Amino acid sequence: MRIKVARNSGFCFGVEKAVNKAFEATLQNKENIYSLGPIIHNKQVIGKLIETGLDVVNTIEEIQHGTVIIRSHGVGIDIYDQAELKNLKIIDTTCPFVRRIQNIVKDYYQNGYKIAVIGDPKHPEVIGINGWCKNQALIVQSESDIPEDMDYYDKLCIVVQTTMPLSRFETLSEQLSQRAEHVEKFDTTCFATKERQESAKELALEVDAMVVIGGYNSSNTQKLVDICKRIRPHSTFHIETASSLDPQDFKDFESVGITAGASTPEWIIQDVIKYLNKLNN
Ligand code: SF4
Repeated sequence: MRIKVARNSGFCFGVEKAVNKAFEATLQNKENIYSLGPIIHNKQVIGKLIETGLDVVNTIEEIQHGTVIIRSHGVGIDIYDQAELKNLKIIDTTCPFVRRIQNIVKDYYQNGYKIAVIGDPKHPEVIGINGWCKNQALIVQSESDIPEDMDYYDKLCIVVQTTMPLSRFETLSEQLSQRAEHVEKFDTTCFATKERQESAKELALEVDAMVVIGGYNSSNTQKLVDICKRIRPHSTFHIETASSLDPQDFKDFESVGITAGASTPEWIIQDVIKYLNKLNN
């Protein structure tokens, strides 16, 4: 069985930076280091961080003193104010791609634009972005989220969650644009996501089966699964670690491709490669 790894897969630079900073912080100080939500959507990495002393909390109210790590998804502007009021040290690992969206939203909101965010309203990145326009954004994930009686705006600014497929941005932003006199739209999808999606598609077309590695709750991994399933509906396997692989699933394939979401570390990818190589022997 031939095994091939996608050209672009695994940790993106934003996640890598966040994870490294979190490990650095816990190595320097074992107590009172908190992350606001899990640093990444990967249980195995979070487990290791907790072992080194990180506490994962859901709200800033849970922290009395110490250091708060803001993850790559970013947070609303009010969280910075609350952290300052509590005299917390902030380690900010907001990804530059997300920071760009936050700055656009802040500037255009201040200049009187209605903000529309194309994305998942429950995703922390989108919740954070909304916090840069006083939580007043119109959040649209699919066509059905665009209200039929939507107001007609003088000025509308449209941004998109970093991990959304470009095609979704194009379709929905086109429809939203009909609802305003003057529209500014920004393709704020990130290149790391695009690269991983394109590489997964390329590889799925080349091999008999695809293994997609990444958290079951990771949005960018789920998109890779969807892309691979469209091409290999019966031979795409989504796993978090090698232990979920079933040797029986691979006995009829001559080639297997591997891809991994942006929050999957290299050691988990290597474990899967080793496992599949063992099947070959
Ligand atoms: S997927 Fe993109 S936006 Fe998200 S952390 Fe990675 S580089 Fe940043």
